Amino acid sequence: MQGKIIRGIAGFYYVQTESGVYECRAKGIFRRDGIKPLVGDNVELNVLDETEHTGNIEKLLPRRNALIRPAVANIDQALVIFAAAKPKPNLNLLDRFLVAMEKQSVKSVICFNKQDIVEKEACERLREIYENCGCRVLFVSALTQEGLSGVRAILKGKTTAVAGPSGVGKSSLVNLLVPHAQMQTGAISEKIDRGKHTTRHSEILAVDNDTFLCDTPGFSSLSVWDMEKEELKEYFPEFAPWQGDCRFLGCTHTHEPGCAVKAALAEGKISRQRYENYLEMYDELKNKRKY
Ligand code: GDP
Ligand code: ZN
Repeated sequence: MQGKIIRGIAGFYYVQTESGVYECRAKGIFRRDGIKPLVGDNVELNVLDETEHTGNIEKLLPRRNALIRPAVANIDQALVIFAAAKPKPNLNLLDRFLVAMEKQSVKSVICFNKQDIVEKEACERLREIYENCGCRVLFVSALTQEGLSGVRAILKGKTTAVAGPSGVGKSSLVNLLVPHAQMQTGAISEKIDRGKHTTRHSEILAVDNDTFLCDTPGFSSLSVWDMEKEELKEYFPEFAPWQGDCRFLGCTHTHEPGCAVKAALAEGKISRQRYENYLEMYDELKNKRKY
């Protein structure tokens, strides 16, 4: 039987299959293949006990990708959730999420929640900034449920990593999007609550048989930057159309004369806000300060 690992805790893997969730070990996989199964992995499993719903993972199916933070496989896209207001969106943090996703080659969809309490113009400003850097931008309200069908359509058939700071309505949204979200988490936690030493790792929630959400706390903290400062500009897609025209090859768009990115900025073709966040991150990488 085939399934997808939706949780891994203390040596157990919980595998979602067409006939429910199986509690599995992965004996042999690591010894034979030298790789550890990750949440999100599609696997071949051997049912050990049908009534107990236990099994053994026999084989990992090929991975499309594997993220490092959080450790999860086969992510199709990220849904980056911020509030349009209350709290005021921290665009610096949003840009850091986007850079982290770009670095891992994962496309981001930005979802601004609480649209019920903001002016239309404020939404349009946000939309303009982020569509200009190649993101899909959605406005929703978990309160009025406006815009939810658009989110559902984007999630359908995919495995989506959910990111965002706290207070933005992430749990409210996840609970609306995932049927029995609390029950899914609750039932398994209960089952593995055998003691104290159960550290929660990544987990994904099943929206339906082929639609999954990865809602991981590890996603909310971007504390380490493992890249060279020269690499950062690659993760600002809106620089791409211009940077070929910079006078210097390897222009960092910070101080060099004849910088086409800065020219585009002066013409309003690149968001000042984003550019300033770029400078700030660049500076941090230069000084190897931790955020
Ligand atoms: P989380 O910390 O991101 O998981 O946020 P919660 O889902 O716990 O929501 C934080 C607060 O925002 C709660 O008081 C919610 O009632 C409120 N909230 C969530 N979504 C909306 C929304 O769409 N509109 C408004 N006005 N408030 C919301
Ligand atoms: Zn330049």
